[in-house]
Amino acid sequence: MTYEDMQGKTYANTTYDVIVVGARCTGAPLAMLLARAGHRVLVLDRAVFPSDTLSTHWVLAPGVRLLREWGLLDAVVASGCPPVDRVWLDAEGLVLSGAPETVTYAPRRQVLDALLVDAARAAGAEVREGVAVRDLLWSEGRVAGVAGRDARGRQVRFEARMVVGADGRNSTVARCADAEPTVDLGALAATAYGYWADVPVCGAEIRIREGLGLSMWPTHDGLTTVAVTLPRSVYGRGGARETFAAALARVPEVRDRLTAGRAVGAVHGAQNLRNYFRRAWGPGWALAGDAGHHKDPIGARGISDAFTDAAGLFRALDDVLTSRLPEERALERFRARRDTGRAAAFAFVCRQAELGPLDDPFLARLREAAGDSLATRELLGVFTGERPLEEYLSAARDSGTVSAG
Ligand SMILES: Cc1cc2nc3c(=O)[nH]c(=O)nc-3n(C[C@H](O)[C@H](O)[C@H](O)COP(=O)(O)OP(=O)(O)OC[C@H]3O[C@@H](n4cnc5c(N)ncnc54)[C@H](O)[C@@H]3O)c2cc1C
Repeated sequence: MTYEDMQGKTYANTTYDVIVVGARCTGAPLAMLLARAGHRVLVLDRAVFPSDTLSTHWVLAPGVRLLREWGLLDAVVASGCPPVDRVWLDAEGLVLSGAPETVTYAPRRQVLDALLVDAARAAGAEVREGVAVRDLLWSEGRVAGVAGRDARGRQVRFEARMVVGADGRNSTVARCADAEPTVDLGALAATAYGYWADVPVCGAEIRIREGLGLSMWPTHDGLTTVAVTLPRSVYGRGGARETFAAALARVPEVRDRLTAGRAVGAVHGAQNLRNYFRRAWGPGWALAGDAGHHKDPIGARGISDAFTDAAGLFRALDDVLTSRLPEERALERFRARRDTGRAAAFAFVCRQAELGPLDDPFLARLREAAGDSLATRELLGVFTGERPLEEYLSAARDSGTVSAG
């Protein structure tokens, strides 16, 4: 049996080592790594690339490091994405600023995701766009493939030894595999963001107020991304544009800069942003990226975590496919590393997303860091994902400025 893709190219309908559902920050690099290691990979996405998605797209230091390791950072830079080489943090009027250790980037998703899809294809993965997966195929208690529809509405079925859900927070694979949440704190905040021309920024600007987070950073085409995070109750009273305007009224210096510039495109909003970990695997299936674990975008950690999951799940699947480890051990190790590695950052991001008053230990740490360039760099490094939170907090505890709670 054969099938034809959207360009009319014909393929044999074979059994794959791995089918990856979702071809963005998790699925495309995972497929690329598997294909580079010689495995037969099929990637399916209902989107057709280049394709934008809801995201303010700041890739933090761990994500940038992985892009470099995969040989893709040069392409991001060559796409015209400006560097984020300074961070300016204003927490209730207390200001810290400095150059982070790693230069980071905030590429538009239609650029970044297309680049990742191209890299997966170049590595030998078969990528099919415009295919919506609707169901999992089961055989003897294991997931054995997927079923769905292609762009022309035809039913398609593909078989594989392993199926990966890299299909985002509304994951079809998670639903069909009954991958229930193991932690679920619900949605804590809402986000609205847009793009402005002629609003220069000096790297990333982050403002933290009780009940409000406001972030700005440079992206492609000379634009500045401007995002506000608000309690969900506030967002509920208006659409994204109104919510955005109301938030700006609290920060007149930014409102005036945006008024002097020019809005480009619509203001986007997102409010059902649940904070959870899901069961990560079962017989014949695994979840990675937002499909398995999601936290509020206020921390800008989703893309870096998606890349980290891609690298971690690649190692696990490679161990399984080359018979180095039994499936259960390899996938359980992936899950354990994901859960322990993310726990502190998850707690930190959820506290940020609650948008409560800044606590005294945090403010004390900010005051202590102000005027000390090394301490400033270390603290800003927590916001750029440079420095693992646990490491930073234990150093701060040792110096007696942050309580163990
Ligand atoms: C408002 C907002 C702002 C954000 N800002 C940032 C930020 O600044 N920095 C950061 O690091 N992160 C940010 N994030 C989070 C980040 O966008 C995500 O963590 C990241 O996109 C996760 O990548 P993923 O590949 O796991 O999932 P996704 O990017 O959601 O990709 C999933 C893919 O799966 C496909 N798919 C879904 N279901 C199916 C199906 N049934 N069949 C076929 N294909 C399917 C979709 O078409 C999609 O292409 C933000 C998120 C939001 C909502």
